[in-house]
Amino acid sequence: MTYVITQACCNDASCVSVCPVDCIHPTPDEAPFMRTEMLYIDPDTCIDCSQCVYACPVDAIRPDDDLDDAMMPFLEINAAYYEKYPIEPGTAVPRRSAKRDFDYSSLRVAVVGSGPAASYAALELLARPGVQVDMFERLLTPYGLIRFGVAPDHPGTKAVTDVFQSLGSEPGFRLHLGVEVGKHLSHEELLAHNHAVIYAVGAPGDRRLGVPGEDLPGSHAATEFVAWYNGHPDFVDRRFDLSCERAVIVGNGNVALDVARILVTDPDELEKTDMADHAIAALRKSNIREVVVLGRRGPAQAAYTNPEFLALTNLADVDVVIDPAEAELDEHSIRLIESGAVEPSVRIKAELAERVAGTQATGAAKRIVFRYLESPVEVVGDEQQVTGLTIVRNVLNEGPDGSLLATPGDQTELIEAGLVLRSIGYRGSSTVDVPFDEVRGVIPNDEGRVLEPSTGAPVPGVYTAGWIKRGPSGVIGTNKKCAADTVERLIDDFENGKLTAPKSGAHELERLVAERNPDVVDFAGWTRIDQAEIASGDSRGRTRVKLVDVESMLAVVRS
Ligand SMILES: Cc1cc2nc3c(=O)[nH]c(=O)nc-3n(C[C@H](O)[C@H](O)[C@H](O)COP(=O)(O)OP(=O)(O)OC[C@H]3O[C@@H](n4cnc5c(N)ncnc54)[C@H](O)[C@@H]3O)c2cc1C
Ligand code: SF4
Ligand code: SF4
Repeated sequence: MTYVITQACCNDASCVSVCPVDCIHPTPDEAPFMRTEMLYIDPDTCIDCSQCVYACPVDAIRPDDDLDDAMMPFLEINAAYYEKYPIEPGTAVPRRSAKRDFDYSSLRVAVVGSGPAASYAALELLARPGVQVDMFERLLTPYGLIRFGVAPDHPGTKAVTDVFQSLGSEPGFRLHLGVEVGKHLSHEELLAHNHAVIYAVGAPGDRRLGVPGEDLPGSHAATEFVAWYNGHPDFVDRRFDLSCERAVIVGNGNVALDVARILVTDPDELEKTDMADHAIAALRKSNIREVVVLGRRGPAQAAYTNPEFLALTNLADVDVVIDPAEAELDEHSIRLIESGAVEPSVRIKAELAERVAGTQATGAAKRIVFRYLESPVEVVGDEQQVTGLTIVRNVLNEGPDGSLLATPGDQTELIEAGLVLRSIGYRGSSTVDVPFDEVRGVIPNDEGRVLEPSTGAPVPGVYTAGWIKRGPSGVIGTNKKCAADTVERLIDDFENGKLTAPKSGAHELERLVAERNPDVVDFAGWTRIDQAEIASGDSRGRTRVKLVDVESMLAVVRS
């Protein structure tokens, strides 16, 4: 028997350190870790001890004799990784934590943001006795995209917040919800009250297509649609016209797949999740029957991960459709796969597309149609509504660095559609008075130390983690290593006397916060919101019913 990692894996690597035979890879210190779709268990080395199961925060690990049909492909997905990266017998490296004997009791750090990167950074800091951490979040609820990005029908993934909830019982931790740095507090004020500030503010903006018609009514960023259905207070009032029969999503990453799935899922199923009530009501009235997902390159280069693609093929009363001609691989992709130059997940991706293309549609009520090697040319419509998307067929050419680039050909086509969602990536923005790289949309840094662009020297006391540090890619657990790397640099600087002691104490900072925003909510206040939402969900057979406006949240906090 072997254990198998399945769809919910969020790459946080908690399982790696508990495995007695070192058979879960890539580990955070191995090169493929930062780009891997998930972690994998080597079936030939696993000794079935089940230790990893207890370490996993999202219940992603199963014994192979407990896999249902939907999970069976993960047997091959796990094993395939070891075709390229076999474990040599006797090479298991025992990991030791490099604990340093140092007095950290005076160290005070402000963490800006409360998403995975901020939360992992806080946990990492608080593992050192005596450290004080103040976390500032502009919204009245913590955890960033875990609440406002991760799809509502992925409750297992959201369970990772249980790990972050433990922050509430750390004596050195204070949470300040409803405090926006750059609005309620300045960067200088934060730095004056702390040895260091870590910016983990995420990348909330979207990338634009740059084609005519992009701003017509009915053409939106997927980021907005996601925030709307997840009940983000800034997006509650958005309106999406779902009266058409076909929607097109430009881009085929996991966010595009989330949106496609939400658009075709039976609203009775969505009703069981924590999706915002206003979105469930709108989706109940939706006429959308077909969602076209457009990728500019071929199936082997699709941006989605295999687990998320597989999940679509298991949706009730939904056909996943691929034209067999589009699933055919080009000569460059075939050569790369056959030479073993690419990850095994690329081969599996191509095989899955081919398998779906060869499957007869069942005549289900709804369809998701994957189209490859196509790019948008123009969003078509009038001042009232989008009516379609003109696309061009691409060819793949090998670039100078060996990567495959999509080049537009001369064959165009109009896809009729009443809703166009662009899902070609998130983007960081400059919100506070710290250096910002406008081209890459990140805070310039060297392994987490923020750099002054004109000199390339570290800005004393200023650090960054998560999507705003490295760009908007990677799953929840990727931010764990990212945050740990940043904290390691910060601790190093503290130990070497490079951080300036705060000018005034924690009480002074707390007084300033209360003065700037009397409605600030602390961890106890968040706990009341959390419990009220869960209780409201319990009474309706749902995981939770989200409060989506500031006034209702404050009413619960004050009650
Ligand atoms: C639609 C979507 C679905 C996803 N689904 C999954 C999934 O199923 N599984 C998975 O593992 N990963 C998923 N991810 C990826 C995962 O969400 C990210 O890796 C992770 O959230 C990035 O963490 P972060 O802390 O850098 O940013 P965020 O999670 O964006 O957190 C940033 C926080 O900073 C706050 N903030 C911003 N500016 C300020 C300011 N000036 N002052 C105070 N606070 C501020 C924001 O309000 C936010 O709470 C998904 C991502 C998206 C977009
Ligand atoms: S079951 Fe035990 S041996 Fe197998 S992967 Fe998990 S921890 Fe490692
Ligand atoms: S979620 Fe974390 S602990 Fe669970 S399988 Fe993935 S990497 Fe391992």
